[in-house]
Amino acid sequence: MTVMGAGESAKYSCARLNDICEVVLDLDEKYNIERKKFGVVTPTDINYFKSVLSEDRVLTDESEVMPFNIDWIKNCRGQSQVVLKPKTVEEVSQILTHCNAKKLAVCPQGGNTGLVGGSVPVFDEIVLSLALMNKIISLDEISGSLVCEAGCILENLEQHAKEHNLIMPLDLGAKGTCHIGGVNNFEDILKLYRSAKLSLGEILSAFEMADAAAIDACVSSLKLTNPISSYPFYVLIETHGSNETHDSEKLGGFLEQEMASGLILDGTVSSDPNKIHAMWTLRESISTAVLLDGYVFKYDVSLPLKDYYKLVPKLKQRLGPTARRVCGYGHIGDGNIHINVSIPAYDKRTLEMLEPFIYEEVAKLDGSISAEHGIGFRKPHYIHYSKDATSLQLMKDIKQLMDPNGILNPYKVLPD
Ligand SMILES: Cc1cc2nc3c(=O)[nH]c(=O)nc-3n(C[C@H](O)[C@H](O)[C@H](O)COP(=O)(O)OP(=O)(O)OC[C@H]3O[C@@H](n4cnc5c(N)ncnc54)[C@H](O)[C@@H]3O)c2cc1C
Repeated sequence: MTVMGAGESAKYSCARLNDICEVVLDLDEKYNIERKKFGVVTPTDINYFKSVLSEDRVLTDESEVMPFNIDWIKNCRGQSQVVLKPKTVEEVSQILTHCNAKKLAVCPQGGNTGLVGGSVPVFDEIVLSLALMNKIISLDEISGSLVCEAGCILENLEQHAKEHNLIMPLDLGAKGTCHIGGVNNFEDILKLYRSAKLSLGEILSAFEMADAAAIDACVSSLKLTNPISSYPFYVLIETHGSNETHDSEKLGGFLEQEMASGLILDGTVSSDPNKIHAMWTLRESISTAVLLDGYVFKYDVSLPLKDYYKLVPKLKQRLGPTARRVCGYGHIGDGNIHINVSIPAYDKRTLEMLEPFIYEEVAKLDGSISAEHGIGFRKPHYIHYSKDATSLQLMKDIKQLMDPNGILNPYKVLPD
């Protein structure tokens, strides 16, 4: 990597990897971005970081740093040469004060499972890993509030809460009663959702949908078991109320009614934790399974329910045989659909067929270009499809106030 004096500007070659790391393409070629005029880390900076942290919490060895440079879906690779692993707020504060004074750019990183390239550096930003800030500070059993540091892993918090007979509200594989059913067309899913809201009311805790191509990825690539026959669409319904007898009566009534009406063609119900876990595993493994197709373009958009599934067939038609798989799955309740398009290996032509087309279509349907995965590195240039100029200016003003030198996670979220 070129080493530059502070304040100089040059193009760094950032890399884009495919799954098996055979092809390396320049991010600046794809996104046409240039490194901003930040400082460059010097041996003096490294010595300073070592004086604040212990030596083993300043990583500079290439093989140790590499995993922090690559994102979970292997879409983006940065070129950081330093990872810092603070354990306390004071250490974070000292690091950031130093970086701000020297105009050194910083990329904060948690579990590095983000899906929009926000968690990895774009050029040579210092990675500030929060992984060692993993202390649970307190758990108030009366109010049910838990205070913890930023690096706590969700599963560990879940376990801790469980020991106190509490649950983490972010627990996706939640307990309760689970039902997976087969449905013939998307209109029926919407009818079923309306009916579930009416019949199950407050005990309805999840209503997830996946199409056949999504479930097929789990079955064929991960060898997971689909507990029912093959259908064009699947829904996973979970209830979680306070009175088990009352809840199962309600769920039973709802299922009976909709099997009779023909909205649900097939299904399986369980309150056995192992079976519930297996059903959620099927739903939650879709993302991983599609990755095994080769290269995946992932979109996480929200759309009005009446148009929720419209883009999937539209993209299938647009891409034709180019795509290995186009599938849709997501949380119906908040209008959030994950659209995944897989191809054997990264190819710029396919990208150009997808973007900005998909965002234009989302805007036409009054949707949002990002539902829950955020904007990160991959969407700043499309944010205007969902946010007007006034909102963007307000966001920029807030960022400027909090981070006047723009050292915190540059190139992400807000366009220049
Ligand atoms: C298999 C899979 C399933 C997923 N399912 C869902 C889902 O159902 N719903 C959903 O919303 N998302 C889902 N996601 C994406 C989700 O956004 C991330 O997995 C998760 O929220 C990111 O947490 P992380 O600790 O890995 O953060 P990272 O990926 O490390 O970082 C994400 C962003 O936050 C910043 N950041 C991280 N920590 C800090 C900090 N302490 N201070 C300031 N900034 C910080 C990073 O710089 C980056 O911009 C899924 C991802 C995967 C891989």
